[in-house]
Amino acid sequence: MEKKEFRAESKRLLDLMINSIYTNKEIFLRELISNASDAIDKMYYKALTDESLSFNKEDYFIRINVDKENRTLTVSDTGIGMTKEELEDNLGIIAQSGSFDFKKENEVKDGFDIIGQFGVGFYSAFMVSDKVTVITKAYGDSNAYKWESEGADGYTIDLAEKEHTGTDIILKLKENTEDESYDEYLEEYRLQGIIKRYSDFIRYPIKMDITSN
Ligand code: ADP
Ligand code: MG
Repeated sequence: MEKKEFRAESKRLLDLMINSIYTNKEIFLRELISNASDAIDKMYYKALTDESLSFNKEDYFIRINVDKENRTLTVSDTGIGMTKEELEDNLGIIAQSGSFDFKKENEVKDGFDIIGQFGVGFYSAFMVSDKVTVITKAYGDSNAYKWESEGADGYTIDLAEKEHTGTDIILKLKENTEDESYDEYLEEYRLQGIIKRYSDFIRYPIKMDITSN
């Protein structure tokens, strides 16, 4: 399978995230939940305004799944999903949303939680992950796709299996090091704490599912 390179700006950002010495790594969850919520918003309004779509409020939720044995954390949503082109455009390069304009001027200011103030986006997943896998099926698309990356050396996109519209973001957590533990992101109380701190205003239910062996 062909491995594609990230664009130059994205590479710099990824390097920043992968080698992050930023202590507030927990915000990755806020970013993934915020993206999930945005994606559900898009689906929700489509369903509200399109009479051909049936509308069930219960269909719109975010699910966090922890697999302790495999050390994976998955954030799933029932949102609008991404087509193959959207995967390329949205995750292959930095989104135009301006999330990262802060970097140039503010990166080196210390004593102030700059990163925490801004949306740092999808790539923040690489602060805690060795590998990120995105499985997504866009609304109206009959195919699902898998985007996968271990960081700076690029990403792959392949066909995948997924029944329902929406997106699963699967994080393979980094191994613990002497000074850093990633295991905590497999603990329910820790995840609940992060959600309470940053994502309390999210208007869709956030369900939690912990599998331990
Ligand atoms: P931002 O949210 O500020 O646009 P991100 O880096 O967080 O920037 O996300 C980049 C883009 O990737 C989003 O704008 C969106 O188009 C797409 N995206 C990310 N996560 C999802 C998701 N769960 N479902 C659908 N699209 C997503
Ligand atoms: Mg975002």
